[in-house]
Amino acid sequence: MKMWRGPTSLAGQIALLVAIALFVAQAINFGLALRDRANFRLAQATRPVATRIADALEREAGGGRAIQADRGYVRRVTLNPVAPYLTRKPEVAEALRAQLAELNIPAGRIDTGLRPVSDEEPPRRANGRRGERRIATVVIAVEQPGRGWLRVVAPWPGWEQRIFWRLVAQTLILYGIVLLAVLWIGRRISRPLRELATAARAFRPGEAAQPVPESGPDDVRAVISAYNTLGTRVTAMLDEKDRMLGAIGHDLRTPLAALRVRIESVEDDTDRTRMADIIDEMTHTLEDILSLARLGRSSEPPIEVDLAALVDAVIDDFRDLGHDIAADEPARLPMRLRPALIRRAVRNLIENAIKYAGAAEVVVTPLPNAARIEVLDRGPGIPQDRIASVFDAFIRVETSRNRDTGGIGLGLALARAIVEEAGGTIRIANRDGSGLAATIELPRR
Ligand code: ATP
Ligand code: MG
Repeated sequence: MKMWRGPTSLAGQIALLVAIALFVAQAINFGLALRDRANFRLAQATRPVATRIADALEREAGGGRAIQADRGYVRRVTLNPVAPYLTRKPEVAEALRAQLAELNIPAGRIDTGLRPVSDEEPPRRANGRRGERRIATVVIAVEQPGRGWLRVVAPWPGWEQRIFWRLVAQTLILYGIVLLAVLWIGRRISRPLRELATAARAFRPGEAAQPVPESGPDDVRAVISAYNTLGTRVTAMLDEKDRMLGAIGHDLRTPLAALRVRIESVEDDTDRTRMADIIDEMTHTLEDILSLARLGRSSEPPIEVDLAALVDAVIDDFRDLGHDIAADEPARLPMRLRPALIRRAVRNLIENAIKYAGAAEVVVTPLPNAARIEVLDRGPGIPQDRIASVFDAFIRVETSRNRDTGGIGLGLALARAIVEEAGGTIRIANRDGSGLAATIELPRR
């Protein structure tokens, strides 16, 4: 079972935290308020009792009406009348003792007990309203040392619900207000962060990055500004890399060209041809490496071309070199693409078929919103477990098998990079029987 980890968004987490903090604060507040209230009520409940005891005693002492056992607010009894009641109210006793002391009335033990509602004589103010609580009474007994007990029955208001609900309402209102504020600040922080995330995801090393607008609180602004600087720096670094690659390419190509001229003077024909081949191969490899490194920052703009004619031109080049390539007469297939790059991707696939199978078949098919180019051969194919890895740069299957066929394992890597840059897909699969099928699909935009 997955554990619930709470809200994951920034605003959600802040809101939860604030809600918890607010709850704790309100609980403390609640406690304090209830205690104050209870003290106040205690004083309110005991003061009249103390005054009336004082009155009764004064009257009796002054020769007035004596305190009786079965009549009057204050009665005198011989036994502790509170004894049968279970619920004691020591705080009432204490408050009363303080009150009596203030009035200079000597008191022995003071005992109090809550009289259960069931013991009650019918309530005096029974207006029968629903939800009306029957008021319990507290029986208070004050010992007069040597003269028995004074007994007073006072109403006991019990648990006051009004203040409770008021506190609840207050808390809810506070929650509402604070939550609105938190959501507002949360949005203020998270919106620019979201924009930043989108921009970071859309960041293409090649293209000049659009700076993300700086908004939100200072900290967020600082992050966005840092990101913008980073983007500029990455772009600058890539420009630098391009310049460096250009320089390397130039510095290597020039001596290679010079070498190509020099070998014309080699007497031995086979030697010379072999040297020329090696130099061609080096030039080719150099160009592959440079294109792979530069891809995505191509300076060639996409233009409207006929894909079928483009593929046909590549095939013609191979046929001119005496290779065997089967292909149908092409129908027009106009598309927007970077011709030099696409030509190179197709050429790499055909080159592989010829290198590893000796012959190739090329099929161009128009699809509803795309175009498919298939390069098929009847060669050895690629072991199933290696198919996924041949697209990686410098990966060659069974190096020993085709050492003399040259190549460094960049052909497919470059083809994939080109096709994906154009928004298409490339895949390779072994065919039924034998051989390999390489398929490029390019979207038609
Ligand atoms: P490069 O293309 O850089 O000159 P390469 O041809 O070895 O070198 P890739 O074109 O990337 O490199 O191909 C990678 C490997 O995949 C090749 O070494 C080869 O073993 C295998 N491969 C590619 N195409 C075929 C094919 N049509 N039939 C059999 N194996 C193939
Ligand atoms: Mg190749």
